[in-house]
Amino acid sequence: MLGAVFAGNGKVEVREFPDPDPKPGEALVRIAVSAICGSELHSYHSPDGSNGELLGHEMVGDVIAVNQTCHVKKGDRVALQIMTGCGHCYYCSRGDFEHCKDMDYLIGGHAELIAAPEMCCLPLPEDVNWERGVLLGGDTIGTTYRTLHRLGVNAFDTVAVLGCGPIGLGMLALLRFIGARAIAVDISPYRRKLAQKLGASRVIDPEAEDPVASISDLTDGAGADVALDCSPTQGTITAALNCVRKFGRVGFVGEKGEAVIHPSNQFIRKEIEAVGSWYYNPSDYFEIMQLYRRGLHVDDLITHRFPMTKADEAFATFASGESGKVLIVRGA
Ligand SMILES: [Zn+2]
Ligand SMILES: [Zn+2]
Repeated sequence: MLGAVFAGNGKVEVREFPDPDPKPGEALVRIAVSAICGSELHSYHSPDGSNGELLGHEMVGDVIAVNQTCHVKKGDRVALQIMTGCGHCYYCSRGDFEHCKDMDYLIGGHAELIAAPEMCCLPLPEDVNWERGVLLGGDTIGTTYRTLHRLGVNAFDTVAVLGCGPIGLGMLALLRFIGARAIAVDISPYRRKLAQKLGASRVIDPEAEDPVASISDLTDGAGADVALDCSPTQGTITAALNCVRKFGRVGFVGEKGEAVIHPSNQFIRKEIEAVGSWYYNPSDYFEIMQLYRRGLHVDDLITHRFPMTKADEAFATFASGESGKVLIVRGA
């Protein structure tokens, strides 16, 4: 089979790999769409690349063979959640496999085939096309839905979205569905434009105006009800804490190494509620499918599609910041 690997310093190579051999309890899935995630850029830009490993962790496809699975059958359409665990501990029994002490990832979506443990295979209904499936059943809507759900975001809220990469854009799609007022912040003109298309009532270029001051002005000096830090940059932690009102809520989903905060002024005396949110679990997926049935639109998050043979171009496009969600599509 063919698969794409990072060859180092922003180069992607499509190479021939042996077809995966599903172990007992696994399904062999022929990948239909694999989406590019912002978290892959670190490895993409690094000198060592992916060290010959296949990456890709947002994928959908159809099952072409099974090895001693219980409920997954040949011909099933599946969205793959990528967290696996022992299946029996406290966290696994809640479906929160990411917190199991035996947690592992299912990675390798940028390929033609993948062997997936049965616990990763979520049923994708016939009438949900592959492209929507990869967004609804991947980080883009999974992680964002879980965050908004945990924060109890609703139509009365004014929500600041700091960073409009795929996760920030996923937040906007959900905020549009809920009917909340969204204010979007991003340095990329392309992404600000896309944020507007996704229903942001105001977009802010943080290099041209101070987002905290502007959000204050837009809320009669009170601050946003909710701030969502969806950016990998350090400064957005501070901006998120500073732009919410007293008793505001903050969601942290933008992965980063280190940032400085002042707990007394930014947190304690504003009586802020904060959640860190990482991934989603299978029960979130079934809830998201209900939202899809009720009219959650995700199509306008997708801006580019490439075949596997053009994976290099796909990543270059995504890395430029001039894109929304970029998909590697079988038969494109
Ligand atoms: Zn991801
Ligand atoms: Zn477990």
